[in-house]
Amino acid sequence: MFHGKGLGKNTYQFFTPQMNIAVKRRAAMESSLRAAVKNGDFTLVYQPQVDLVVGQVLAVEALLRWRHPDKGMIPPQSFIPAAEASGLIRPIGAWVLAEACRAARRWHDQGIEVGISVNVSAAQLRHQDLASTVAQALQSTGLPPGQLELELTESMFVDPTQLTVHRAVQAIAAMGVRLAIDDFGTGYSSLGYLKRLPVHKIKIDKSFVRELGRDAADAAIVRSIIGLAMTFGKRVLAEGVEEASQYRFLLAEGCHEAQGYYFARPLPEHACSDFLLQHGTLAPALPVAERQAG
Ligand code: C2E
Ligand code: MG
Ligand code: MG
Repeated sequence: MFHGKGLGKNTYQFFTPQMNIAVKRRAAMESSLRAAVKNGDFTLVYQPQVDLVVGQVLAVEALLRWRHPDKGMIPPQSFIPAAEASGLIRPIGAWVLAEACRAARRWHDQGIEVGISVNVSAAQLRHQDLASTVAQALQSTGLPPGQLELELTESMFVDPTQLTVHRAVQAIAAMGVRLAIDDFGTGYSSLGYLKRLPVHKIKIDKSFVRELGRDAADAAIVRSIIGLAMTFGKRVLAEGVEEASQYRFLLAEGCHEAQGYYFARPLPEHACSDFLLQHGTLAPALPVAERQAG
């Protein structure tokens, strides 16, 4: 039935043994995710976002990891779809928000002023009272709202439940929390939301950044997105910067910020603290990797 529904309405599908395997696998994943929520088996790693002009770390993006008792560290893309389908994304997402705000607060208490960026999935915006979850995370940590940014993906704005999404987004922005569009260029939404929604930043998807210097079309896309962001008065950040040549291209094109292995990998909190102390707000105007080398 679910397979049929997934293919659209007014259809029929015959049951196959493969479906049974898929159903069992999904059930097993769901029950171990449920256990993980109960046992608190999640952790966050943090990846610095660097201002290209002044060469300092402005913020870090919180990235979720599942510390599985047998399988080790599991990346988010292997379990977030299951978490969304089962509704477990709500408790997990609320934990991510609270923990990310607590980390930013701990850095603040150490004299490190850094913004924190948190990924939010469409399921959270649609089903969770996200605005109140955000308000609670801010209130319990005392983090100034302007230091928190939520990353939403473009595809959220093509959903039929748009209105709910827009209302939630407006409510969150009204609190002073910033909004970024993640993986920009990979969705297929109309650009109208750029003028309708209080978006602060556009994040260029790493698939366009990867081939910079080798693929003229990707260079043109990146250049256009930077131009678009500037026209709309938004900040623009390039994701997945791994090489000096990509960094130089982005700098020359006037991109404001970048994030990627070239600067730093996602780091556990303590390692990130060290990184921020070394390359934080007082850093000179040079990219981190070159400073380390020289
Ligand atoms: P994203 O938000 O676009 O995050 C960027 C991803 O690119 C991260 O993968 C990061 O580790 C990886 N990355 C960073 N720099 C580089 C680089 O230079 N090269 C390459 N090849 N990759 C780089 P990660 O941590 O596996 O996260 C994957 C996706 O999972 C995220 O994409 C985001 O959409 C989602 N996600 C992560 N944490 C959460 C969360 O707490 N909640 C929700 N709803 N989604 C999350
Ligand atoms: Mg993100
Ligand atoms: Mg992204």
